[in-house]
Amino acid sequence: MSSGVFRSMTIAALMLGIPHAGLTADSTAANKSGDAAERSAVNSHPASHTPTQWNLGDLYASPAAWRAAYVKAGQQIDDLARFKDQLSQGPETLNRALDAINQVEKTAVRLNVYASLKADENLRDSAAQERRGKADRLMSHYSEATGYVRPELTGMDQSTLKQWASLPVLSVHQHFLHDVIREAPHTLSPQTESALAALGPVNGQSDTFSLLSSADIQWPKVVIDGKPRTIDQAGYTRWRGDGDRQVRKAVFKAFWSTYSQYQDTFGSLLSQTVLQHVIDARLHHYDSALAAAVSSDDIPVGVYHQLITSVNDNLDTLYRYLKLRKRMLGVDTLHYYDIYPPLVKSDKRFTIDQARSLLRTATRPLGAHYQQLLDKATDSPWTSVYPSPGKSPGAYMAGAAYDVHPYVLMNFNGDYESVSTYAHEWGHGLHTLLADEKQPYATSDYPIFTAEVASTTNEELLVDHMIAQATTDQAKLYYIGQALESLRGTFFRQAQFAEFELAIHQAAANGESLSGERLTRMYGAILDKYYGVKQGITAIDPRDNIEWAYVPHFYYNFYVYQYATSITAGHYFASRIEKGDTHASKAYLEALSAGGSKSGYQLLRNAGVDLQTAAPYQNLIDYMNQLMDQADSILDKTSNHS
Ligand SMILES: [Zn+2]
Repeated sequence: MSSGVFRSMTIAALMLGIPHAGLTADSTAANKSGDAAERSAVNSHPASHTPTQWNLGDLYASPAAWRAAYVKAGQQIDDLARFKDQLSQGPETLNRALDAINQVEKTAVRLNVYASLKADENLRDSAAQERRGKADRLMSHYSEATGYVRPELTGMDQSTLKQWASLPVLSVHQHFLHDVIREAPHTLSPQTESALAALGPVNGQSDTFSLLSSADIQWPKVVIDGKPRTIDQAGYTRWRGDGDRQVRKAVFKAFWSTYSQYQDTFGSLLSQTVLQHVIDARLHHYDSALAAAVSSDDIPVGVYHQLITSVNDNLDTLYRYLKLRKRMLGVDTLHYYDIYPPLVKSDKRFTIDQARSLLRTATRPLGAHYQQLLDKATDSPWTSVYPSPGKSPGAYMAGAAYDVHPYVLMNFNGDYESVSTYAHEWGHGLHTLLADEKQPYATSDYPIFTAEVASTTNEELLVDHMIAQATTDQAKLYYIGQALESLRGTFFRQAQFAEFELAIHQAAANGESLSGERLTRMYGAILDKYYGVKQGITAIDPRDNIEWAYVPHFYYNFYVYQYATSITAGHYFASRIEKGDTHASKAYLEALSAGGSKSGYQLLRNAGVDLQTAAPYQNLIDYMNQLMDQADSILDKTSNHS
């Protein structure tokens, strides 16, 4: 079922296109694409001690050096055919083969990282875009060339393979072999698997979805500040939280009415995708599409169900937040278009030096080694900090070049969200440094299930530090608002998405047909429940129930729940680390250093947080209530004075 042999998932997710929760699905760190170039026209960044450009020379000295390595890697990939039909000959041979494959993969990945980062420096540079295309094809070449590995191992006598996996000679590859053994009962004959794989390119609903939503739809215009503005995805994310209520109301109306016109087509695309997941799961002998999706990362389905149960048990906390929002915005009725404006406005601006110093202070409880690594990372030219013409929007960490070091791309604009993004991305970066330090290449690659824990832990350490050191009520309220927003966007909203995803897969498995209209009804029912529409907490125009059609993550096959579980685990760690709990710090750093040597669920459980139980979710809910207690007491004090 998986395309690459070892690393494919994280490469895809961390650097080749799957956006972070903060970037697309929702949230405040939103997509700032539309205006990156505009802002860079100003281009007067204060002089800083922190390097603000990355140096890709650490990957390859020049484009020419890249080309030479690329040609050589192509030959090395072809040479991997020499191990075909040899893997079952003995543990030594198998080890030699897997080592050699890893070695070549490591090079292909490094080539890919360079090409991808170089292309993101300037999306208008056609030579760089071409290089990225070449690197992508090299990865496909690699996947095809090593396509024999899993079927050969699955075709072996499994008790022999199990015994080999426990031998010291194969210890580096043990985790991979255990994966193969676990998935063997779900793997069909090589002929069937390759027939299914051959059909892959025609199952491109996700591509069609992107084309339809970003290229084909004629987006409406709304006049804002006297200028007609296009309300496409970038326009929507930019204006939906506008301080002027009439503006955000008009933006919602324009955007969701447009989606509604395409309800049938979006419905057909999503329903085909869901059916494909269901059929694929059945063909591979899984109990459900959910079981199939979580199996590749060895996550128990109980984690998913516990998340949804815990969220449903605590919707009154979300209602409390929505009531607080209503109070702070000073509106009579809270509408769905009122959920994005910040609770408190702030013009406070930060320099990159201040961002770096805040991150250092906030992560100090993690101990000397973490600080040393962070200092090294942020003192080196590893981050592309500011927007510039043609530069890729958003933010990410690219950590796949094992022998080199992580890189971070972001578009720092001086607001608090930029500081938080810096903390988030370097959370990923430190995770990579810690894992690469302790793990051989084969087990250095960590799954998404733990990846977003490292980043959200840093975000919470930072925001809690900001709340604690704020000297005015207004500043305190601002940071509390930021923390609450991130809990709504990353915990409740992603869980809401996860609940919808599960519901539509279950409906499809029951043979029910999913029209666009049906999807809108199902989404609307869940949305109404989360936002307390029946209880009169939020008013939602039924037109907005088309929102499901906007979310690309529904094409990723049970992906978004990991944002909610990650912030839950992140809170578990951050709340203990900041209190000086050295046992928790140590367990946390060990989990990060373990990279991909165990399943993400196991690693977190070993570190003290079992996401299959209610306790960690309850802790997160308690934290949210404590933040709201603080906000209420500040607001009550202020209103008593006036
Ligand atoms: Zn992230």
